[in-house]
Amino acid sequence: MKKLIISYLPAVFLFFLGCNAATKSADTAETAELVINNAKVYTVNKNQPEAEALAVKDGKIIFIGSNNDAKKYIGDKTEVIDARGQFVMPGFIEGHGHIHGLGFSLTNLNLMNVKNWDEIVAMVADAVKKAKPGDWIIGRGWHQEKWNPAPAKNYLGYPYHEELDKVSPNNPVYLSHASGHSAYVNAKALELAGITSSTKNPSGGDIVKDENGLIVGVLAETAQGLVSRAYGAWVNQQSIEAQKAKWAESIRLAEEDCLKKGVTSFQDAGSSFEQVQWMKELAQQGKLNIRHWLMVRDNNAALRSHANVFPILNEGNGFLTVKAVKVSLDGALGSYGAWLLEPYSDRAGWVGNNTFNIDSLKAIADFCWQNNLQLCVHAIGDRANRELINIYAGQIAKEKNKDHRWRVEHAQHVNPTEIPRFKEWNVIASMQGIHCTSDAPFVPKRLGARRSEEGAYVWQSFLKAGVVINNGTDTPVEDEDPIANFYASVTRKLKDGSEFYPAQKMTREQALYSYTMANAFAAFQEKEKGSLEVGKYADIVILSNNLMTCKDEEIKKTRVVTTIVGGKVKYKGQF
Ligand SMILES: [Zn+2]
Repeated sequence: MKKLIISYLPAVFLFFLGCNAATKSADTAETAELVINNAKVYTVNKNQPEAEALAVKDGKIIFIGSNNDAKKYIGDKTEVIDARGQFVMPGFIEGHGHIHGLGFSLTNLNLMNVKNWDEIVAMVADAVKKAKPGDWIIGRGWHQEKWNPAPAKNYLGYPYHEELDKVSPNNPVYLSHASGHSAYVNAKALELAGITSSTKNPSGGDIVKDENGLIVGVLAETAQGLVSRAYGAWVNQQSIEAQKAKWAESIRLAEEDCLKKGVTSFQDAGSSFEQVQWMKELAQQGKLNIRHWLMVRDNNAALRSHANVFPILNEGNGFLTVKAVKVSLDGALGSYGAWLLEPYSDRAGWVGNNTFNIDSLKAIADFCWQNNLQLCVHAIGDRANRELINIYAGQIAKEKNKDHRWRVEHAQHVNPTEIPRFKEWNVIASMQGIHCTSDAPFVPKRLGARRSEEGAYVWQSFLKAGVVINNGTDTPVEDEDPIANFYASVTRKLKDGSEFYPAQKMTREQALYSYTMANAFAAFQEKEKGSLEVGKYADIVILSNNLMTCKDEEIKKTRVVTTIVGGKVKYKGQF
């Protein structure tokens, strides 16, 4: 399948790509720049659920309705896309991802789909050939449980770093686990970080050693910091201009990845103030290709000293908004970091990690409330969710009618008693459909059957209680693909064909809403995007299947045919 990315072609060429000879109707009130007709339009607007055609001017929708009525918007210079009956819907909005992490993963080694350790060693060897001595070799995405065959010489399934040392004696190697909770390094990286077999484990981390005290090469949790500091020191030797240019290239690649998957807006869960500034410059220069909405992640003191940065609203013609703050209250379930009310079912006495001081979080909540910022806190375990709702309730109770739209990022494993409290305090559950089917194989091991059924990814329980659920992928933890996420949301089907507590599946309508209007609402942007209505941005995707009516298994085969942002065709796949 040949795909053509046309986002960087001159506008005049874009115009000819989709232009049909069109006759201008006599009673033209307005001439559109773009008309899409012969479409199966699913609007996500309950007042006008379906349509055949729409028209766009100045980047916004000026008409939506029948093919016949659309004719009067077609002039000599109107680009007309004949959708040939295909499915047209609002562009997908990523509700929780990491744009810088996605970009980073695309500029470095992507280890997500490797078959085994040998393949990783070969990829590193190849990268070393292209690098200068001393350059760091960076990668992400490996998972030892997925390797076939497992490495012959190993400790707890991990190979020793000696094979990496052979192919990369002079280049430090730093390969993050798919989860981000551990990393694999070689001898050069250990040397630069000053790690020897006598180095003590930092608090909350583990330099994994075998029974003879030999360093294997894996650094878990905070132990990664020892090497990432050495890597950071190397990065900081480069000029800010060089760092910024590299970052801008990674953002361009991340946007390209989003566009080919039908994503027109992206909600980032954790930018630094420096990244916010750089993103603002790109927005002002008109260089952004999808719309960004950033949560700032920093400590209480830094937030207060940078308070004048907020808010950034619709910078660069609607391409950048910054008015939210991100905090993480616990870790992830897979690595036993989710903070639970009762111990893990497969680790006696262990209840996970509280990763952020409760009083500091209360102070940040107060800062956000005073400054009208959305607070978005990562909470995965049921204890983290309870503590968080307690903090939210304490703040919100002071002014209960304020439209705050504070969010719980993940809300993955909740005690059932918390669900009505989300509704009571109007808290949004910012969840990721794909995490459910990815994590399902180990969730019952960690939580046992009762907690898994009552509280793990309980979408229907939330929706029935009237809680808003928005949806995303947490990319690069998972692939950015909204269609794979949609499939997970409506089927909860695992690779082996089993379904994870299917009573909690979303309907097609709920899942599509969660990825469009609910995400727009969760960012205070429901008046601008999330549905196809007159006056909203013309952020549109054309898909090869009707997501509302095709068979479950057909969903996975759906291709993105065209992605349009602000009325401009930014990606064209195979029609
Ligand atoms: Zn995340």
